[in-house]
Amino acid sequence: MVSVDEELTRLRKENELLRAQLALYQQSQQSSVGAATVAAPAAATKVLEKPALVKQAAVDGGIIWPKPGEAFWERSPRTSPMPLQGGAADAPPVERDANPMHIIHITAEMAPIAKVGGLGDVVTGLAKAALARGHFVTVMLPFYECLPKDQIEGLKHECDIEVPKGYRWDGEIRVGPLKTSVYWGRVQGCPVYLVKPADDTNCNIFRGGRIYGGSYNEMEAYLYFCRACLEYLSVSQQNPHVLQLHDWHAAAASMLYWDVYNPTGVNRTRLMLTIHNLDNTGETRQDEFFFTGVPGENFATIDKALDERTIGHNPERLNLMKGGIVYCNAITTVSPTYATEVLNGGAAGWLRSTFARPELRSKFHGILNGIDCEEWNPATDALLPANFDADRPAGKALCKEFLQKGLGLEVDPRKPLVAVVSRLVPQKGIHLIKAALLRTVEKGGQFVLLGSGHSDPAFRQLADGQFKDHPNCRLKIMYSERLAHMIYAAADVVVVPSMFEPCGLTQMIALRYGAVPLVRRTGGLADTVFDVDGPAAGPAQPRNGFVFDGSDDGALHGALDRALTLYNTQPARWAALQQDNMRLDVSWGKSAKSYVDVYRSISA
Ligand code: ADP
Repeated sequence: MVSVDEELTRLRKENELLRAQLALYQQSQQSSVGAATVAAPAAATKVLEKPALVKQAAVDGGIIWPKPGEAFWERSPRTSPMPLQGGAADAPPVERDANPMHIIHITAEMAPIAKVGGLGDVVTGLAKAALARGHFVTVMLPFYECLPKDQIEGLKHECDIEVPKGYRWDGEIRVGPLKTSVYWGRVQGCPVYLVKPADDTNCNIFRGGRIYGGSYNEMEAYLYFCRACLEYLSVSQQNPHVLQLHDWHAAAASMLYWDVYNPTGVNRTRLMLTIHNLDNTGETRQDEFFFTGVPGENFATIDKALDERTIGHNPERLNLMKGGIVYCNAITTVSPTYATEVLNGGAAGWLRSTFARPELRSKFHGILNGIDCEEWNPATDALLPANFDADRPAGKALCKEFLQKGLGLEVDPRKPLVAVVSRLVPQKGIHLIKAALLRTVEKGGQFVLLGSGHSDPAFRQLADGQFKDHPNCRLKIMYSERLAHMIYAAADVVVVPSMFEPCGLTQMIALRYGAVPLVRRTGGLADTVFDVDGPAAGPAQPRNGFVFDGSDDGALHGALDRALTLYNTQPARWAALQQDNMRLDVSWGKSAKSYVDVYRSISA
């Protein structure tokens, strides 16, 4: 827990930083008088109340346009002019809850320092939203070697502990203590514990240049991580109301908790498993589970964590997600429609028999993700060449021009810019992404892809072959958080044609950045995007995009053609749609409240 003194020191530092930023801003405003930069109001105090975003957007002063071939997305975030504060796109005021709870998340990802996909965004967004509601929230994260330490405020070594850990010796697995270091810091204001072996010269765990697929065995590393988190909480005598475990990486903590740390159920801590994706469920051999220091045999029955698919195999295996489902007091997943697809459709896959058990169904909840509206705010986003919001949308055109120039596309404000930002894996509808590309270019639009994953090669081939130096198509096969921000800001349409999608964040980011989402009707996409030509719905279902069913190219073409026609023939209606979308509430507000309701429902 953070002491009052530490909190005061942090607030003082924050204050100093803000003062320094304000001084810099005032200087930049004075030096810009008469120069071809942003026009500024006279008094800085007035600027803070009513910022100069419109002027920034109206003249393109202050924008340093990209040079041909420049990796412009690698530039440092803009510090001057100061991003716009306030405005219509701000998140609604946060409600504070009475009787704050103590929540600890155990997770493999946390944006922005350890983000691979939506899991990282969700952990940070939800943690910040619950903090803002007045709860005590901490995140426990592996201290990956590749973490950018400069983005962790106040990083300090907290303590070393001994964690029981299985290791191979002479063909057998034995258990011994592994000295483990726990660090503490803050990421975007959210307290974080970072956990790793103390001596990483003899141990590969969490080493390497990537979050996943570093130079370590993932199963061994996350099993150890689960045990280490529980051991630390026990040693430091922390007794949170809820441990929220994210996906299979953290699920074993629920099995260990009831087996080792709270076998009689007397401690108050209760457990929640949040399923972000059932595509990966964490299969492990029983002897491998012994890396936790606890024999896997303890869990090897159908009613516990035995993977039914392996019955009769030698050896039979365990499944950590199943263990989490059985051993947690509540299970959540990230949208109501995905929850229904899991319970009643095919989304549960082989876990269907587990989800058929009434006692497990009744503790399963679908809560729609939000997005972190501080991180994703076009009015203040320092990664954008120009800012904008629903009431002052002019900056969006500058963002489009900037991206067209930067990527070497034909610079034409009238061409619809269609974008995909995605992991490139079968789940994301690879063939439909390709269909969207071909159709957009055929119809005279522009297409930009930012993506990476197993299905890279097909897109690399297109990028280096048919679409090399194409004036209307750019395929960036890479991961770049900064370029992603610029693409959302520049895009007219964002396509999300997933085969299945537990929630999906890109369509919500698109709404916030004034790009119209075009999605396949599945999971969370069906809960957040409603067709402009669809039946009139209530305020919870604003007609905000284009939706298609089916999974063939023709289905996608139908929706894409409608979008391009609307863009080309009814610019005023298109602009109104973009602006209305930017006003929609896609924040964590409502969803954080739903999570708090579930936390309370399981609290002892
Ligand atoms: P998933 O978690 O299945 O990847 P989501 O839609 O829930 O999908 O979240 C994806 C997140 O990852 C979004 O924030 C999106 O902007 C980001 N993202 C996906 N691919 C890339 C990429 N190549 N570069 C930068 N950000 C990406």
